[in-house]
Amino acid sequence: MTSDQTAKNCIFCKIVAGELPCHELYSDKYTLAFMDINPAADGHSLVIPKFHSENLFQTSNSHLAYVIDVVQKVAVATQKALKPDGLNIAQANGPGAAQSVMHFHFHILPRTMNDNLMMNWDIVPGDHERIARFADQIRGFLEK
Ligand code: 5GP
Ligand code: ZN
Repeated sequence: MTSDQTAKNCIFCKIVAGELPCHELYSDKYTLAFMDINPAADGHSLVIPKFHSENLFQTSNSHLAYVIDVVQKVAVATQKALKPDGLNIAQANGPGAAQSVMHFHFHILPRTMNDNLMMNWDIVPGDHERIARFADQIRGFLEK
């Protein structure tokens, strides 16, 4: 398995390569977790394989295993740090499922009771200081 395959013009591959900034939560050889810049909720983060694949159907079983392991780590840290009322894991495949970035990813979405969050949430840019504050809180509970 390699982690150096990138798709041209893929925004998440650029984040993996360090060509674009992110509020990083966790990084290992195969997986990266970082904050969503248009958070649907405070503490909204993403977990991606470092190796480019578009969706669940293109992702190998071994990459999926690495990614889901980190999804659990970040979800546990988010739950401890922010103590939300609940937490959704979401993952979109294809435009009909509202996938907007064609690099496989899981959303980790802290939820508040009655927040009425729709799964087709609007893309609204977040405030970076606020995103960074929540990133710090979650990182504090992430085990390496
Ligand atoms: P999708 O709609 O494909 O399920 O989710 C893609 C997510 O990526 C969206 O929630 C969007 O806010 C996020 N996103 C898009 N571009 C960037 C970016 O440059 N940096 C970060 N951190 N998140 C991004
Ligand atoms: Zn990519």
